[in-house]
Amino acid sequence: SPILARYLERTPASAAMAETARTMLPSGIAHDARYLKPYNIYTEEAAGSRKWDVDGNEYVDYFGGHGAHLLGHNPPAVVDAVRDALERGTQFGTNHPLEVEWARMVRRLIPCAERVRFTSSGTEATHMALRLARAHTGRPRIARFMTHFHGWHDHMTAGYTSHFDGSATPGVLPEVAKGAALVPPGDVDAMRAALREGDIAAVILEPTGASFGKVPLKPEVLSELRQMTEETGTVLIFDEVITGFRVSAGGAQAAFGVTPDLTTLAKIVAGGMPGGAVVGRQDIMDALDFQAMEAAGREKIDHPGTFNANPVSAAAGIAALNIIAAHDVCGKASAYAARLRDGMNDVLRQHRLRWAVYGTFSGFHIFTNPGGLEIAPDDFDPHALPYDVLKKGNPAVNNKLRLGLLNEGVDVSPWPGGLTSSAHDDADLELTLAAFDRVLGALKA
Ligand code: PLP
Repeated sequence: SPILARYLERTPASAAMAETARTMLPSGIAHDARYLKPYNIYTEEAAGSRKWDVDGNEYVDYFGGHGAHLLGHNPPAVVDAVRDALERGTQFGTNHPLEVEWARMVRRLIPCAERVRFTSSGTEATHMALRLARAHTGRPRIARFMTHFHGWHDHMTAGYTSHFDGSATPGVLPEVAKGAALVPPGDVDAMRAALREGDIAAVILEPTGASFGKVPLKPEVLSELRQMTEETGTVLIFDEVITGFRVSAGGAQAAFGVTPDLTTLAKIVAGGMPGGAVVGRQDIMDALDFQAMEAAGREKIDHPGTFNANPVSAAAGIAALNIIAAHDVCGKASAYAARLRDGMNDVLRQHRLRWAVYGTFSGFHIFTNPGGLEIAPDDFDPHALPYDVLKKGNPAVNNKLRLGLLNEGVDVSPWPGGLTSSAHDDADLELTLAAFDRVLGALKA
């Protein structure tokens, strides 16, 4: 196709690198979401809203470091903090002052954060959150919504893109997979029925819906879940790995006024460096506390982790959270996303294409309409569509759309859609809408 031919022509250095990479790295990649057919670009450098590949092509970036870059790439205050920390050492094997300041910032912003335990990733944070919930309640299972993503550890693999029946994915023990009750997204009656079984330690969810709202949740679901978990003594966990410090400085929980028992954080919390945290109620988090468990005569939860709260991530996190606390960067990124969604829907109308661009806060999702549903941007309602249709989209079109957008200097996430930052500006918007228009023309050709 002309789109593929142009992609191959523009990216010979990435092609060569991908070929070499495939001889060493499965699929030539390090994260499933970086997979793209025939190959993905290799980025050499990034700044603000833009990034540049090894062939010298420039892109407006909407992948945003998988959501880590609310402030855009390399904000100067964060770079300075990281440089300063690096010069002092990357791992001390002891406690250090920066982790205390980092915890103070997290507690100041996130309503449920009475206590904070740092991890090295979001996956580790959700893993620990489940363990804390089991230790607290003495119950074995967890309940979660199909399509919601919580990282890649064994308890979280079924029901994200497939295995909606809860069966184990390759390499996962069937009995571990059975430890999760999978409930259709947003179905509070089904969740209530699952909780009635009496063996559920925790409910975990993405508070704005799967993939930051690709399968959106109605906000009232949050208060209903809060109520039913309180009634049943179940731990309510908001996975705010993406929404934390993005939906608002205090995350989705501050924006919607529903405080969970535990929250998992990563991405923005570490200011573009590796890091995560599980935060929440002291009586639950006490299961990690040597003195509290000794006093209670209970066995503590083990939690090592070489790079937990490493000083470089801590420095980046503090610098980023200081900016988020002092300036309305969440509002700025969200306002840009609203203009982007509106503009893209205008382009769709001009092309009379039955797709839609939707989303909330600083997220956007491009619905590429599998099966040719009769949908126009004006009356598109993602709440009215089946979750599997929303989740899956139209893979054949999605791949071409992404290649086409890369040809025009725009990198979107594979779902497809993306996250905006406070660094995106009018020039980015204009470039993106013109690119979208040209790609839709090329897709028709
Ligand atoms: N939870 C959510 C909602 C996420 O989006 C992600 C990552 O994208 C994770 C958990 C896992 O975080 P990490 O990639 O840091 O392990």
